[in-house]
Amino acid sequence: MRRQSKVVKIGNMAIGGQNLIRVQSMTKTDTRDVEATISQILSLEEKGCEIVRVAVPDEEAAIAIPHIKRNIHIPLVADIHFDPRLAVLAIDNGADKIRLNPSNIKDLAWVREISLRAKDKGIPIRVGANLGSFRERPANVVEALVQSVLKEIEILEGVNFEDIVVSIKASDVMTTIKANEIIAKKVNFPIHLGITEAGLLETSLVKNSAGIGYLLMNGIGDTIRFSITDKPEKEVKAGFDLLRSLHLRDYGLEIISCPMCGRAEIGVQSIAKQLERRFSNVKVPLKVAVMGCAVNGPGEAMDADIGIAGGKRSGVIFRNGKIIKTENEIKLYRTFVKELKNLIEERQKPS
Ligand code: SF4
Repeated sequence: MRRQSKVVKIGNMAIGGQNLIRVQSMTKTDTRDVEATISQILSLEEKGCEIVRVAVPDEEAAIAIPHIKRNIHIPLVADIHFDPRLAVLAIDNGADKIRLNPSNIKDLAWVREISLRAKDKGIPIRVGANLGSFRERPANVVEALVQSVLKEIEILEGVNFEDIVVSIKASDVMTTIKANEIIAKKVNFPIHLGITEAGLLETSLVKNSAGIGYLLMNGIGDTIRFSITDKPEKEVKAGFDLLRSLHLRDYGLEIISCPMCGRAEIGVQSIAKQLERRFSNVKVPLKVAVMGCAVNGPGEAMDADIGIAGGKRSGVIFRNGKIIKTENEIKLYRTFVKELKNLIEERQKPS
């Protein structure tokens, strides 16, 4: 059962309530470098990214926002730390949402000013806490994170601002889970999920999947971001992989590939990698199997829409567990790609 939260709009995208759980990422370019930032956002869009956050560390970055926005197609969130003037400037320059940390912006008059401007423009503010919000490590981290967010919400509600998105992130999975479980019961604003500073690709995939996955399975979470020390496109792919594996979104190519064993007759790993790279921009949902042998392959991958399996100097192509073609090993991959392209085209046609 999904937690019922208030619906909040970021640009023309609604989040929370019964809306789809959205996949976010953050650019890793210098926001002042408008061209590089636009090009990274367009690349993220191709992978399906639905909301993008950019760092706004100074005036020049805030002033870059309209130039960036003119060239992209998804809502843009301005990430502000410490300097309230930058929040105002980002709002005035057309940011679709502000990520603000009122704990860092102590002056109540400024928080009031920011929220009035945001209200005027109809844009939400994301408040949140992570360990960086504290000068010293609190004795009870979970409690401190929750209290910090509640205080931030109180400040905004105190100036009648309710267009709020909440986020509590820690690099520790269990801390993130516990804090989000508590905050989810206390407020009805949409929740953005993530494990922060989650590390390099493999470790961060495990940590984010464990933390975000557990919370989503318990109905908590309206937007997600996999924080990964790697290219942001990988964050987007991971986000969709997780949502798809929990049956929360149906999106893009899912490669089902066998772990390979002594029976493998084709290069399962290299074929799977090539397919993933080649069809990474496909948005229609499709399960594609790459199986080492035809003895077990088609049956084991019965759920796949289309698949390839190796045989003695040949291989088979199957759809929904039924073999549709046998091909010699030289032509096998090429024929499979052709069949796959046809299937993608078929699925892309409006019904
Ligand atoms: S599909 Fe064939 S090659 Fe792959 S793991 Fe199963 S038995 Fe081994």
